[in-house]
Amino acid sequence: MKKILDVKDLSVSFETYGADVQAVRGISFELNEGETLAIVGESGSGKSVTAHSIMRIVPMPPGKFVGGSILFKGEDLTKKSETQMQNIRGKEISMIFQDPMTSLNPTMTVGNQIAESLIKHQKMTKKEAQKRGVELLRLVGIPNAETRIKQYPHQYSGGMRQRAMIAIALACNPKVLIADEPTTALDVTIQAQILELMRELQEKIGTAIILITHDLGVVASVASRVAVMYGGKIVETGNIDEIFYNPKHPYTWGLLGSMPKLNSKTEELLAIPGSPPNLANPPKGCPFVTRCPYAMKVCKENMPEYTRLSSTQQTACWLLDERAPKVDIPETAIVGGRKVHV
Ligand code: SF4
Repeated sequence: MKKILDVKDLSVSFETYGADVQAVRGISFELNEGETLAIVGESGSGKSVTAHSIMRIVPMPPGKFVGGSILFKGEDLTKKSETQMQNIRGKEISMIFQDPMTSLNPTMTVGNQIAESLIKHQKMTKKEAQKRGVELLRLVGIPNAETRIKQYPHQYSGGMRQRAMIAIALACNPKVLIADEPTTALDVTIQAQILELMRELQEKIGTAIILITHDLGVVASVASRVAVMYGGKIVETGNIDEIFYNPKHPYTWGLLGSMPKLNSKTEELLAIPGSPPNLANPPKGCPFVTRCPYAMKVCKENMPEYTRLSSTQQTACWLLDERAPKVDIPETAIVGGRKVHV
């Protein structure tokens, strides 16, 4: 598979009064043409800052690139001017957000919002853009597209707004679509429909997708690979089977343990106790050390290197060191009776 995006050793900080918040700390990952990579983690893990950095929509200042690169088709996006980025955003790399109401323009019809991007990037006439807009609304499953295209976002339901947002994002056939918590604001049935739509569209169009989410359940139905982020770092990566059936990082175990289980009367979730590290003063060693039930002395002092477990899985945890005690995956993290649809 051909690599379309190559993030290398990326670090992004935010200047605050007193200290820099090191939101992303030296992460590396690749995205191949036509694949879906999920970046999973709790809020504050750095996943959204990573997505916004690729789009170059992190406000700078207070944000700043501290190091590393984001290579898109071989060119470093961190070095592009705002004018150059305007030609990439929406055309080559698009983004959909959690709440479409904040990104859709309430004063413009959905048709005009789709047309705007087509006229700007594809040099279409208004008539051509409107025609393509109807096709796009049909593609994302909006009924009566000819009527709907003339309506305003407030005339759409929540699920339909998200579909319209996807239509706008896909208007110019982008190479990369970044979906930042695209289903979090939706109810469960609509969530499933939007995820199904994303999967169908990827099969049809072949756009590579980066799915940002805190919910491993969402990941299972759409992604082929997963990067687990914690404390500004990627702590484990693997394909979907490796992350669900052979995870090696205690934080991944915690995320799996906090997923809803089948046959559970209470639907009680096992939240990971404790809170994420303060990234204005990040821990010297493993970022998970204060919450990890298996933490050792070495974890406090030194950040673990990645251990390569397969051609697709690597994990940064001292438990994988040959001198560490042997720890089995806890019962709570074993995927069996879970609502997982891999
Ligand atoms: Fe836990 Fe240590 Fe592994 Fe970090 S390195 S996850 S603290 S065992």
